[in-house]
Amino acid sequence: MCGIVGYVGHRPAVEILLKGLKRLEYRGYDSAGVAFFMNGKIQLKKSEGKLENVEKLLNASEPPYSSATCGIGHTRWATHGKPTTQNAHPHRTGHIVLVHNGIIENYQDLKKEIITWGKTPQSETDSELFGFLVEREVQGGASFVDAVRKSFTRLEGGCSVVVMSENDPGVIVGVRNGSPLVAAIDPQGGAVLASDAQPLLDITQEVFFLEHGDVVVGTEKGIEFFDLKTGAKVQRAMTKIDWSVEKLDKQGFAHYMLKEIHEQPTALVDTLNSILDRAKTDPFPLALQPAVGILDKAEQIMLVACGTSWHAALLGKFWLENWARIPTHVELASEFRYRNPVIMPGTVVIGVTQSGETADTLAVLKQMRELGVPTLGVTNVRNSTVSREADAVLYTSAGPEIGVAATKTFSTQMLVMLLAAGYLAIKRSASSNKEVTKLFHDLVKLPMLLSQNLEEGGAWMQVIRKAAQNLYKSKGFFFIGRGYSFPLALEGALKLKEIAYVHAEGYAAGELKHGPIAMIDNEMAVIVIAPCDRWRDKTISNLEEVKARGAIIVGVGEEGDEKFRSLCNHWIPLPHASDLHESLLPFLVAPIVQLLSYELAVLKGTDVDKPRNLAKSVTVE
Ligand code: GLU
Repeated sequence: MCGIVGYVGHRPAVEILLKGLKRLEYRGYDSAGVAFFMNGKIQLKKSEGKLENVEKLLNASEPPYSSATCGIGHTRWATHGKPTTQNAHPHRTGHIVLVHNGIIENYQDLKKEIITWGKTPQSETDSELFGFLVEREVQGGASFVDAVRKSFTRLEGGCSVVVMSENDPGVIVGVRNGSPLVAAIDPQGGAVLASDAQPLLDITQEVFFLEHGDVVVGTEKGIEFFDLKTGAKVQRAMTKIDWSVEKLDKQGFAHYMLKEIHEQPTALVDTLNSILDRAKTDPFPLALQPAVGILDKAEQIMLVACGTSWHAALLGKFWLENWARIPTHVELASEFRYRNPVIMPGTVVIGVTQSGETADTLAVLKQMRELGVPTLGVTNVRNSTVSREADAVLYTSAGPEIGVAATKTFSTQMLVMLLAAGYLAIKRSASSNKEVTKLFHDLVKLPMLLSQNLEEGGAWMQVIRKAAQNLYKSKGFFFIGRGYSFPLALEGALKLKEIAYVHAEGYAAGELKHGPIAMIDNEMAVIVIAPCDRWRDKTISNLEEVKARGAIIVGVGEEGDEKFRSLCNHWIPLPHASDLHESLLPFLVAPIVQLLSYELAVLKGTDVDKPRNLAKSVTVE
């Protein structure tokens, strides 16, 4: 889950490491560190807490680090051992210094073995043990690169490492098996490695995504790839990244999350343009690509995901069943992978993961492939691991999402599933052509409608801010809804927990009376999502039940629904039903619950873009 950067070449290495790690801070940020060559020796600077603590250490250090041209750095998301300075990476064992991303599953066995060699690890991490293995291989006569390679084959579990040796200045060695690693050649001479392409973009847009079982060796001459098992040289294809560095900045917004909420209209347009064949005039014309061939054959669909992606998948089920009449199941990847499920013939399994690196979702796709079940991935990151684990991929085009709490990637995931549902509805004549055509026409209008409501003078910003000011001292929050609004209630509660650290629950409105209503009193806020759809009246009855018990009510409903509005303490309007098909309402409700959570988090004073304990790509189980 951590962030790794390594550089060797002619530029100031420490500056590159720090800048790169800042771009990766969304991956892990409980502690950080850098290691770099100075006068032939490796210096380590590390600290618990944020990267700025390391910067302070560096600024206080003598001699100045600006002449260093080779180094590695890390922002940690602790899995083994507390987030202390001692456990922060890089770790040093003799002349070996390393950073590590992921988990070494057999670390207990390795530790026992290392102790029998008379060695004593200094940290509680699994990562540090790797250094002892490399050191021993070198002492046994292996070259540095071979020692890293051989030692890595002893590790169980998915992880990546980047290693330097004081005896081999100017060489950095990376190995990928599981957690992602990307490498690039510095056009000025040199090599740069990172756990994500973003830190590389300051140097080049031409990058190489390592495959599982790749070893990469970076020197001032560039990079070379080797096979982990045999050590033989291998070639890897270069990918040109189309994200510019500018897209990675906040562009005047107070937080990345706020910027990314506002980018949803553009993200939807970009995703529509990338998935549809706009030369065609029929509704939902998916551009021909391998994923479409797989969808065509689906008799049943199984959507597998975690967290926010799971909520998008729940909406996918609604659309796929409602429009395409395809039986669709939604599964939590972390549960599904350890079950013994019955997969019916004709099933297509779709793994939804914004980063394309979610360990549990990838594991399910791998299992399914082994069983011969056709698989698809839905992801926002080109060339991420899901593109290798699934038979084909449908990409969202949300652009880089830096805020840890997913926003625009959620909307675009929903969109991909709606597009698949609409396409199959037409292809199989599963729904009335007139209805599907109306849905498509409304979908094309959606980004503009969304953008008008999101503007500062639009319908939402002021009322949401005001509601947040009155609510932020509430004891707890319930988000309730039925139908399409139920997954949005789950997502609203998840967002609020993630970034404001308050207790929030998402509930199917009809379920409250089966238990949780016992919690309702006048210190609880209930966000009632009830657009004028077929579930509205039932949800309003559930609203009356909580209102009777004193709850503070925030209503999200159709503009002009005065009856609903009169029952609420705060009111957030949705456009008229005549302007939008009810199937599209989730795209409007999503930014509302995101903004409400955002405003509450800002009032609570939390670190909105980097909430505690979380990391953006969940690359461990
Ligand atoms: N397992 C290692 C640790 O706890 C690496 C965690 C990470 O990926 O940040 O230090």
